[in-house]
Amino acid sequence: MRKAGRIVAAILDVLKKRIEPGIITEELETITVHELSRHGATSSFKGYRDFPASLCISVNEELVHGIPGKRVIEEGDIVSLDVGALFEGFHGDAAITVGVGRISLHAKALLEATEGALSAGIAIARSGARLGDISAAIQSFAESRGFSVVREYVGHGIGRQMHEEPQIPNYGSPGQGPFLKRGMTLALEPMVNAGGWRTKVEGNGWTVATADGSLCAHFENTIAINDYGAEILTSLG
Ligand code: MG
Repeated sequence: MRKAGRIVAAILDVLKKRIEPGIITEELETITVHELSRHGATSSFKGYRDFPASLCISVNEELVHGIPGKRVIEEGDIVSLDVGALFEGFHGDAAITVGVGRISLHAKALLEATEGALSAGIAIARSGARLGDISAAIQSFAESRGFSVVREYVGHGIGRQMHEEPQIPNYGSPGQGPFLKRGMTLALEPMVNAGGWRTKVEGNGWTVATADGSLCAHFENTIAINDYGAEILTSLG
C-alpha cells in the first residue's frame, strides 16, 4: 500500500505543477493516465460504478467526482484533483485542492481550513483512539474557521478495495465509534464548504457541487494506523 500511495502522491505532484490558466481538464486526465501507466498502476476510479475517467477534477463550487472534459481552467479557480491508483492488488487514494494563479483571500482561507482539518484528523489517529475522535477533530477544525463540513460524503477504509469499512464521517463526537487498531488503513477526506453543508448531484449523474453554489474544498490522504500515530501512505516518501 505504501507503493500505491507513493504513486498517487507522485501523480498529484505532477498535476499540481502542470495545472495553470488555460489548461483543459481533459489534458489533466491524459497526464493522469500516462503517469499511472508509467508507474505500472491502474486507476482505482475508471470503471468504478461506470465512472468514465481516471481523474476526478472538481472546480470551484464542484466538490468531488467531477469528470474531465472541455472545461478551461481559469486564473482564480480552486480545483480539487482526486487520484486513486491500484498497484499490486492494493489501492491508494488522495486528493488536493489547488488554487490556480492568484486566488481570493476567502478561497485561500477555505483551502487552509480544509487541509488543516485533514492534518488535525491525522494527528489524532493512533491505535486505541476512536473513529469519532478523527471525525470530531476534522469537524471542529473546519468549523472553527467559519466553514461547514459536508455530511453526505465520507472517508473510508481502503486496502484491496478502494472503499472498505468503516465509513469515516467528517463530523461526529469524540469517544464514539469503533476503536482504531494498528494496521488499519484509512482514507481521510474532509470536504468543506464555504456556505452551507448541503450538496447536490449535477445533471451528469456524477459531479457533486454545493447546493448553494458556494466554494468548497477537498483534501485526502490514505493513512496507516500504528501504535504511536499514523503514517501517511500517500506521500512522496
Ligand atoms: Mg476517497
